[in-house]
Amino acid sequence: MDHIFAPWRMTYIKTNEPTNGCFLCEYPKEERDAQHMIIARGQHCFVICNAFPYNPGHLMVAPYRHTADYVHLLPEEVIDMHSHVARALECLKRAMNPQGYNIGVNLGKVSGAGLDEHLHVHIVPRWNGDTNFMPVFSDVRVVAEALEETYRRLRDAWK
Ligand SMILES: [Zn+2]
Repeated sequence: MDHIFAPWRMTYIKTNEPTNGCFLCEYPKEERDAQHMIIARGQHCFVICNAFPYNPGHLMVAPYRHTADYVHLLPEEVIDMHSHVARALECLKRAMNPQGYNIGVNLGKVSGAGLDEHLHVHIVPRWNGDTNFMPVFSDVRVVAEALEETYRRLRDAWK
């Protein structure tokens, strides 16, 4: 997906200093879902907007448990994650009407995983010619507002 123009990823590259904390562990523990753009919480997993999306509506579904071991996910985690991926697709359809999706998991740094210690399923909505879907942002603040607007639309659609 290198061809998708996502200028805010430059911010990610600049600010992605390694930290000891894992945000996929920390964010659900805090009661600040709107700030962290958590769309929904299930019993074993949660749905969160990607703060550095490849496309508008880029979501991630992650188990609460800190694990990189896809092979040994618990059956209840697999079922809950799948049902949340499915519901996220319905939600995206309602809110943004994409023409297609990329759904996938990056395992290991070499695969392109930004966070390789806590696995998560990426859901990236796609539109025909979506390299042109978003206006070109040169201002990080504007990008943040666009992310918040997308978050609100998706959170409302989830309900
Ligand atoms: Zn974690």
